[in-house]
Amino acid sequence: MPAKLKPPTPDSGASARNALADADRRSLLRLVLSSTGLTLCGFAVLQLSNDNLLLALLEIAAGLLLLWAAWKIVAVQDLTPWIYLYLLPTFCFMVYIIVMPGASPTAFVWMYLVPIMSYLLLGRSAGFWLAAPFIVLAAALYIWRYAEVRTVGGMIDLGNAMLCGVLLMLFVHIYESRRAAAQRVLERVAETDALTGVFNRGRFQQLFIQAAQQAERSQQPFCLVLLDVDHFKQVNDSWGHVVGDHALQHLCRVLQQRLRKTDHLGRLGGEEFGLLLLNTDVEAGATLVEDLREALSARPLQLKGMQVPLAATFGVAQWPVDGNDPETLYRCADQRLYRGKAYGRNRVISDGAGLAVSDLG
Ligand code: GH3
Ligand code: MG
Ligand code: MG
Repeated sequence: MPAKLKPPTPDSGASARNALADADRRSLLRLVLSSTGLTLCGFAVLQLSNDNLLLALLEIAAGLLLLWAAWKIVAVQDLTPWIYLYLLPTFCFMVYIIVMPGASPTAFVWMYLVPIMSYLLLGRSAGFWLAAPFIVLAAALYIWRYAEVRTVGGMIDLGNAMLCGVLLMLFVHIYESRRAAAQRVLERVAETDALTGVFNRGRFQQLFIQAAQQAERSQQPFCLVLLDVDHFKQVNDSWGHVVGDHALQHLCRVLQQRLRKTDHLGRLGGEEFGLLLLNTDVEAGATLVEDLREALSARPLQLKGMQVPLAATFGVAQWPVDGNDPETLYRCADQRLYRGKAYGRNRVISDGAGLAVSDLG
């Protein structure tokens, strides 16, 4: 009989997959907002002692606004508009202090923060497109204002400023590309079953909960299918464990060939698998699953001249007819699979209640 699988709990967190990246961006943005806010308030005190009341008031107002934003973003859903709202005026200000009257010739060094902040907060593509125009503009203004190309010392100053900026942008770009690629690989590994390449149990449970939430919103039915390979112990005993592994891979290939792009296949453990058939009612679902069952029986694993026959039993449950929460739906599909085993295996059960006592034996 299929090993009992704990029904997924709704609080497994549908968006857990992206939570880390989002949490990182949020804490970084908070740090940036609050440190800029505090810095501005500190500068306001200096302006006050310099009798520059107007500028002091402006800096205090901007500083307090940034501290308020740092507190506010803890709960906002979409961070991106907040990131642009912070970065655009900040970068404009950084460019302005290069050319403002009485500016220090070293004020341009603040521009070196532009690519770092853009890439960290927006990622490679959006980060590049935000940072590049500001860098080009700042370089042009710096050359126009300070470049002293007639002396060697002036050329060295210019070379230092430009080359450092270009290299910084290049390194940040390369670093972010590699980091993003490594994260994609890690995410894929974290959600994939190593033997078969289909979704692993954790990811399948997330998708299942998402499907239930989506169905609740759209009122479109979907089917949960649980399947367990029949007499798989015998496959291992007769052909060996390695052939058993090949058989599981073969089963996934056969199923995937028949499934639609919108369907999900996951390995729940051992030789048990789950299928999510989205936007599918039980009639269409049962027909598709019957097709899968036949395909599996008709296509034994061919390995080194051997033919390893395979069959599986399927339990199908439809949202919302058989349950409108993941737990009930899962239990229903599991009971039907159990009933299919009791009735003799290699079949699809998509209706009726749980197992009757007379089914056992
Ligand atoms: P039933 O029709 O009642 O499901 O019979 P069964 O033999 O398939 O059921 P049972 O649960 O008793 O056996 C499952 C077997 O699957 C036992 C276990 O050794 C084997 N198995 C589980 N995971 C793997 C795997 O990754 N590779 C291989 N080769 N075998 C596995
Ligand atoms: Mg089993
Ligand atoms: Mg089995």
